[in-house]
Amino acid sequence: MVQVIEWVNPGEDEIIWRYPNEVIKWGAQLIVHEYEVAVFMRDGKVYDVFGPGRHTLTTQNLPLLYKLVGGGNSPFKATVIFVSMKEFQGRYGGESQTRELAPIKYYGVYWFKVADPVQFLTEVVGGQSLYDTADVTKFIRAYFNEGMMKHLSAYSIVDLFQNLDMVSTQVKVKLMEDFRRLGLELVDVKIEGVNTTDEWRQRLFWIMQTGNAQTVMQMDTAKQVAAELGKSGSASVGTGMVLIPQLMQPQAPAQPAQPYAGGGVPPAGYGGAQQATPQAQQQTQEICPYCGKPLPPGAKFCPYCGHEIKRCPNGHIVPEGAKFCPICGAKIE
Ligand SMILES: [Zn+2]
Ligand SMILES: [Zn+2]
Repeated sequence: MVQVIEWVNPGEDEIIWRYPNEVIKWGAQLIVHEYEVAVFMRDGKVYDVFGPGRHTLTTQNLPLLYKLVGGGNSPFKATVIFVSMKEFQGRYGGESQTRELAPIKYYGVYWFKVADPVQFLTEVVGGQSLYDTADVTKFIRAYFNEGMMKHLSAYSIVDLFQNLDMVSTQVKVKLMEDFRRLGLELVDVKIEGVNTTDEWRQRLFWIMQTGNAQTVMQMDTAKQVAAELGKSGSASVGTGMVLIPQLMQPQAPAQPAQPYAGGGVPPAGYGGAQQATPQAQQQTQEICPYCGKPLPPGAKFCPYCGHEIKRCPNGHIVPEGAKFCPICGAKIE
């Protein structure tokens, strides 16, 4: 009876399958379906590779193994691994920390496929002695997560919450390089969510409101930042000045346009007194302290993330739990 080596009915999520019989006879029929590759391995090392088709195993099409097992027509030992070249989807989720050691949680989806089966089998399957899909999938997810953790920790919390699109794009490029090392192609990555603790959300709020990450980071807790900013009533905190940016200050009516003090080309929109109005409008643009997107004037809820926007009696945005407005010092009921 002719030995038939075939991966019968692979499941949707199956990346690899090992032919259970390690004794192979010359003349055996090897059937490789579309989007599959069959690889002959021995002792974790890759020998001959077969693409889709029906192959009769001979000494000619198994030259590398033949060399190893020597002449004769007697059966030889080899591990036949089938690799699916289809695209797979994986979900990920984990915890990491930002550059400032703020704890973060993240989750999302990624898509990948085997790009170089020999490298994949050498690095992952043979290298780790993982011979079934469940183990391989677990390994890939852990590898992905490790990379995600490492790359995300290079960013600041403000970047993560205000420029997630930019961060995603950059992290994706780095992860793609990591995956290439395993013979895998990372087709796409989607970060669906990033979160942090309440304490850090408040800190983030103060960083975004004051534009002064350094001072906010010097305080032990966000509560302390809030208390300091609240009791001062103005923009100063202790000895270090917190300069509340122009855009957060109450608008002084008929303020004379200040001469442009910077060197080089004036920034876009700067045009002196006659253009004070568009500039003033630009200054009053509020941003959501939770997701960083622009808010419509007087918004009570953020249209992007749905967070409630708390305000002082004078209409300034204040964080949850604040006792005083950081901009005008008004007491919050
Ligand atoms: Zn928002
Ligand atoms: Zn206020």
